[in-house]
Amino acid sequence: MRSVRAAERRAAVMPRRTKIVATLGPATDPERAMADLIAAGVDLVRVNFSHAGFEDHAGRVARARAAAERAGRIIGVLGDLRGPKIRIERFAAGSAELSEGATFVLDTGYDPSAGTDRIVGVSYRELPQDVAPGDTLLLDDGLISLEVTAVDGPRVVTRVLAGGTLGDQKGLNRQGGGLSAPALTDKDREAIRLAAQLDVDYLAVSFVRTGDDVRETRELLRAAGGRGQIVSKIERSEAVTYLEDIIDASDAVMVARGDLGVEVGYAELTGLQKRIIEIARSHHRLVITATQMMESMIHAPVPTRAEVSDVANAVMDNTDAVMLSAETAIGRHPGRVVRAMAQVIVGAEKWQKSHPERQRSDGHFEHTDEAIAAAVMYTANHLDVKAIVALTESGSTALWMSRIRSDIPIYAFTRHDATQRRVTLYRGVYPVDFDVTHTSPNLYADVFACVLNRGIAAAGDLIIVTTGELSGVAGGTNSMKILKVQAAG
Ligand code: PGA
Ligand code: MN
Repeated sequence: MRSVRAAERRAAVMPRRTKIVATLGPATDPERAMADLIAAGVDLVRVNFSHAGFEDHAGRVARARAAAERAGRIIGVLGDLRGPKIRIERFAAGSAELSEGATFVLDTGYDPSAGTDRIVGVSYRELPQDVAPGDTLLLDDGLISLEVTAVDGPRVVTRVLAGGTLGDQKGLNRQGGGLSAPALTDKDREAIRLAAQLDVDYLAVSFVRTGDDVRETRELLRAAGGRGQIVSKIERSEAVTYLEDIIDASDAVMVARGDLGVEVGYAELTGLQKRIIEIARSHHRLVITATQMMESMIHAPVPTRAEVSDVANAVMDNTDAVMLSAETAIGRHPGRVVRAMAQVIVGAEKWQKSHPERQRSDGHFEHTDEAIAAAVMYTANHLDVKAIVALTESGSTALWMSRIRSDIPIYAFTRHDATQRRVTLYRGVYPVDFDVTHTSPNLYADVFACVLNRGIAAAGDLIIVTTGELSGVAGGTNSMKILKVQAAG
C-alpha cells in the first residue's frame, strides 16, 4: 500500500496524461469494487449496450457517478451502442466442440436455443445473401474460422478451418468485410434515447461505415435531448476506406481492435492503429485505443510483457485514452488492472518526455482559439512553465492544446459540468470546477487561489492562462498571459 501511495503522490506532481476508460459490468457492481476502480484513477467509465439491460446500465452509471462524487473526482461516461454485431444464437448444451474439417451449418431459420456441433441459429436474416462459397467467416474474434461451401435458402453450409469450443452468442464476421447491415439497428435507435436520458458524455457507434452513420447518430441523439459527443468505432473494412470522412464527422474515434482485427486481418492492425491515431489527431479529433490491452488480467494479477508493451506503444502513438473491456467488466481484479495500466502509461510517458516532438510550423490557422492554443504550447514547451490554465466554456481551447504534444499539464477551468466531464478524455487535460462569471474583480487572484489550493503550482511558479475577452462565450479564447503565481497577500 505504501508504494501505491508514494506513486499517487508523485502522480499528483506530474499527472498521468493518457486517460483510462474502464468498462463496467458484474465485476464492478459491488460497491467496494466500484470505489476501488475510481480510487485507481479511472477517467471514464463505459457501459456496453451489447450486454445487459437498460436498468443495469442506468444503475451502473448512477453508482459510478456517486462513487466519483464521494471521492471528489470528475469522471466521464461513455455509452457504447451494440450496432449490427452479428452473433450466432445459443447451443442446447451451452457450447459446442467444432473439429477441423467437419461440416457446420449457420441457419437463419433455426431454433435459437437448440444449436449442436453441426448446426446453430443466426438472427441476421441477410447472412445467406451477404456470403458466397469460398468466403471465410470468423467466430469469437477469429478463434474459430469457417469456409463457406454452399448457400442453400436460409442455410449457410461451411467447413471448419480452425475448430475449438464455441460458446453461445459469439460474434460472427466475414473476412474482408462486406456484410451489408446498416450501422444503426432498431435496438440502437432505442438505446440512443436511453443514452440521452443517462446524459452520457460520449456515445460510441459500432460498425460505422461512412460519415453519414455518424451524422445520423448525432441528429438522433440531439433530437432525444442528448448532449454527448460522438465516438466512431473503426472496426469494419469499409470504415478504413472512408476513414477521413468518418473522422471529420466524429468528435472521437476508437481503434476497435477486436472486430477490426478480424475484418482486416490482425497483421494489418498495428499499422492501422498508428494511422488512425495520426489522422485523428491531425484533424483535431480524439482517439481511444481499445480491446485486449490487458486481457490476461481478466484472471492474472500481473500483465504479460506483451500487454505492457502494447499499452506503452499506444501511449507512444499519442492515443488520448486506452480502454479496458472484459478486464474490468468481468475480471477478477478491476482496480488492480487500472493501477497496472496507469503505471505502464506513466513509464511510457517518461520515455516520450525525453524524446520531444518537433512542433509543426507549417499549416494555416482557421480559428483564433486554435492560434492561441498553438502559441501557448510553443511557449510552454520552451519556457519553464508549471501548468497551463485554460478558462473555457466548451473545452475547445483545451482540445486544440491537447493535440500538440507536451508534458505540461493543461487545466480546463470551467463552470459547466458537461465540459468538465467531456475533457476527461483529452490527453493531458484535467477538469477544474471554476466559475469565471462570478469571480471577484480580480480574476487572476481567484485563479491563483485555485491553483495554490489544488497544488497545481506553487507561489513563484510560472503558469500560462488563456482567456476570452468575452468570458462566457464558447470558442472565444483570444489571449494568453504568462503569470507568476502569487499567494494572496
Ligand atoms: P466491442 O468493440 O467491445 O463492442 O466489440 C470493441 C472492438 O471491437 O474492439
Ligand atoms: Mn466491436
